[in-house]
Amino acid sequence: MKVVSRECVFCQILAGQKHQPIIYQDALCTAFMDINQPNPYHTLIVPNDHVESVYDLRPEQAAAIFQASVSICRAIRDASNCAGIHQIGNNGRAAGQTVFHFHLHLMPRFTGDLAKMALYLFGRKSIKTDVVLDQMANDLRAKLTR
Ligand code: 5GP
Ligand code: ZN
Repeated sequence: MKVVSRECVFCQILAGQKHQPIIYQDALCTAFMDINQPNPYHTLIVPNDHVESVYDLRPEQAAAIFQASVSICRAIRDASNCAGIHQIGNNGRAAGQTVFHFHLHLMPRFTGDLAKMALYLFGRKSIKTDVVLDQMANDLRAKLTR
């Protein structure tokens, strides 16, 4: 049976109750754009079941998320021409977790963007419109299906 938390924003996205185009989905995990885009193509991968943090992931969920992240990292590299990329999981408030449904951040990095990244880490918002997010999601889907 699917595990859902009604108050969880990622569960709402997965249930189609909140607009956010899906980049990738399989039986265990789903990827979509982060609403906050300090660098373009910042993507999240989440387990389809509501799982609070890394400590609660089942091995098959962890495997599916990491496997999907490899293809999506390649798609982000190809779409953004980034110089590097992070795969980051923040687990627990002390580690900066703000949404308590496990997620892996895929964050492209560009040479000289350290100041921008520092501002993001300290809470500076860079919220993008649905139109911009939809375009980025389309770009990644196109790269993934190649
Ligand atoms: P955390 O701080 O928990 O590691 O990351 C949570 C992420 O979820 C943040 O980067 C934040 O921008 C993103 N986020 C929060 N609310 C929403 C939302 O409603 N839609 C999307 N797509 N991302 C969200
Ligand atoms: Zn959830």
